Amino acid sequence: MAMTQKYWDPEIETMSRKDLEALQLKRLKETVARAAGSPYYGKLFKELNITPDSFKSLADLSKIPFTTKEQLRTTYPFGALATPKADVVRLHSSSGTTGTPTVICHTKKDLEAWADRVARSLYGVGVRNTDVFQNSSGYGMFTGGLGFQYGAERLGCLTVPAAAGNTKRQIKFITDFGTTVIHAVPSYALRLAEVFRDMGIDPRKDTSLRIFAIGAEPHTEAQRQRVEEMLGVKAYNSFGMSEMSGPGVAFECPEQHGMHLWEDHYIMEIINPDTLEPVPEGEVGELVLTTLTREAMPLLRYRSRDLTRILPGDCPCGRTHRRIDRMKGRSDDMFIVKGVNIFPMQIENVLLRYAEVGNNYLITINPKVGGDEILIELELKDLFTDDYGQLERLNKRIVSQLRDEILVTPVVKFLQPGSLPQSEGKAVRVKDLRKLS
Ligand code: AMP
Ligand code: ZN
Repeated sequence: MAMTQKYWDPEIETMSRKDLEALQLKRLKETVARAAGSPYYGKLFKELNITPDSFKSLADLSKIPFTTKEQLRTTYPFGALATPKADVVRLHSSSGTTGTPTVICHTKKDLEAWADRVARSLYGVGVRNTDVFQNSSGYGMFTGGLGFQYGAERLGCLTVPAAAGNTKRQIKFITDFGTTVIHAVPSYALRLAEVFRDMGIDPRKDTSLRIFAIGAEPHTEAQRQRVEEMLGVKAYNSFGMSEMSGPGVAFECPEQHGMHLWEDHYIMEIINPDTLEPVPEGEVGELVLTTLTREAMPLLRYRSRDLTRILPGDCPCGRTHRRIDRMKGRSDDMFIVKGVNIFPMQIENVLLRYAEVGNNYLITINPKVGGDEILIELELKDLFTDDYGQLERLNKRIVSQLRDEILVTPVVKFLQPGSLPQSEGKAVRVKDLRKLS
């Protein structure tokens, strides 16, 4: 048989919960056995007297303490490695810009399982081996590059490893090679749409684009809709993180309502980040993940810092792997002004609902005596008006809606399109000047 791997695998993807949980328990025990081979978990398990036999049901997972990013940093680079180094064929690190990064090692089998998960995710939204897949995300240590590359190759797509940046060249590739599927971070998807317009090309009519995988950074439903309308594509949310290999952890299905988290490869928990207790199903909390199939660097109860919830109920698509909601943000993205907790996504949610508003914005928090100030610099769409009164009315409407949403009155400043720095990787949306002073 020419193809050994099935990309739509109903036996796995629509498995009954009972069977899925039995598979998870079996794989959890195998994972614990493997992890015991690493200096970090080996020592921990010995101290706590944990062996594979300690797990009679999935609830026993709570016997294992959480693993945090800080702990992973202390094991940098190979303290959590559970296989001989000779079996490791690649390492990746997280895209954190400060301090020691976290490093994840992969065996050949780890890389294959990762490519399978990405292939499964793409196949699920209709990508086939007849598609031309362009990956407009950074390559190198960032896992969105090689992760999607091997996943799309695994599926048999004609892949275009364009990498990030040089937008005009991206557009040339899209038109010359007949790109049908593209992957990029959401902020870059919108940038692409703007450059198409500047070049006088209508991507809806003049290209074959039909599917956009957007992920790697938080975005709102309004941003997805913009990507879909401007580029004439269906856009699907893709979630992953380098500690869990990379993309292919959770992915939307054609229903576009929550991302199925691949529970044959991961156990998910949602906890209250303060009490560390599980939240009731359906409530927002921090996503905690345990790898179930990784060989080189199994991670148990890894605290992602990402805030989401499990969507209650079954998905009409028939997959039984539970869905997580669009990320609300990261607990470390949250900022506090005048005693109120604010997430950048709450602000984006309001801004992008206005048709006059462009695609780029920057939130700056200025330290001020008597209460810190939130300044939102916002690009408007091309000269949509030069009527000062109209601009002032729009500004007032936005400020008042933001105040209702975040309970603090921000200052909103309108800018010409193209005034703010445009990132090619993950967008920087918040500058907190209090942290610099
Ligand atoms: P890295 O491991 O450096 O690639 O970054 C992983 C982080 O990116 C995750 O922990 C999330 O905070 C963020 N991220 C990845 N995918 C998404 C997504 N679809 N929506 C929101 N945030 C995401
Ligand atoms: Zn579904």
